[in-house]
Amino acid sequence: MKLHDVPLPTQEEYERGMLSWLEAQRGPVWVTLPGTNADRHRVVVTLLHGNEPSGVNAFWHFALSPPACAVNIHFCIVNIDAALNDQPFTTRHLENKPDMNRCFGVSGDDASYTLAAEILSRIEALEPEAVVDIHNTSGTSPAFAVTINDDEKHQQIASLFTERMLCTSVRLGALMEQTMAQSPFVTIECGGVQDHNAVEVAKNGLHHFMTAENLFLNHTGFWPVERLYHPVRVQLKPDLTLCYHDRFVEESDLTLPPDIDRHNFGWMAADSLIGWLGERGLDAMTTNDGEGKHPISDLFYENDGELRLKHPAKLFMITTKHHIALSDCLFYMVVD
Ligand SMILES: [Zn+2]
Repeated sequence: MKLHDVPLPTQEEYERGMLSWLEAQRGPVWVTLPGTNADRHRVVVTLLHGNEPSGVNAFWHFALSPPACAVNIHFCIVNIDAALNDQPFTTRHLENKPDMNRCFGVSGDDASYTLAAEILSRIEALEPEAVVDIHNTSGTSPAFAVTINDDEKHQQIASLFTERMLCTSVRLGALMEQTMAQSPFVTIECGGVQDHNAVEVAKNGLHHFMTAENLFLNHTGFWPVERLYHPVRVQLKPDLTLCYHDRFVEESDLTLPPDIDRHNFGWMAADSLIGWLGERGLDAMTTNDGEGKHPISDLFYENDGELRLKHPAKLFMITTKHHIALSDCLFYMVVD
């Protein structure tokens, strides 16, 4: 698995469609669109997760007749293998492969770690003005940005796409953790695949990203960004059972309502019902905020088998996909 430099699709390829173009690739690709200023660069990474197509859809939208790029724009389209597995755009990563967005700055045996290192060294060599990594959330959600650094540059990049930004201390091996002073990296979560405006978020943001002469002046897309700090990642402990149902399921360690993702980014009051706990109670769950604070018992309490919020909180990145909830996390939250 190595990055392949490929040109933009031809008219003929374009007419055959995006899937057919992706199928013709021999692995992850790097596509460069020349800019008016040939010495400056910006990088767009997308499809690190094969089931998150909004970024590649936006790329395809611009592919036939790209807008006049202010600087060289590089698209890195990564996990085409996973994207084409089974039904297109349903596989986050192949079963025998690690999650690509857990491989940056991490070493391991799989070729995915080498690929992640290759992507990073390409980016470093270009010294781009900005790097965005475009994703979709697993459940329905408004768009938001994620960063480990909330300085003005990161905010301005985020504001091209969305008015919400999470500033996280959790370290997982995600691309945006590699942000550099000269090359700020921001993750953009465009919302869920099923949210019809997700592709619009990617297209509108990328249009600015590609054409703006200076990303860090008060460009027209600038909008004050709401910042949320110290998101806590909430997981079920390994090998426990999770169910999605509108009432407690016998013998499950945690039951969550099937429409829990409608709470994405909405404030929830203290005492709100989140779900139902089994015999293990709160001990079935665990948290990580990157700083060793916010143990589960600080955030939730159990009352008669019901899992309830201790404080007002915002939940986000809530998934209702069972395998993603178990392999990644149930949701993230910030407390008031
Ligand atoms: Zn993703």
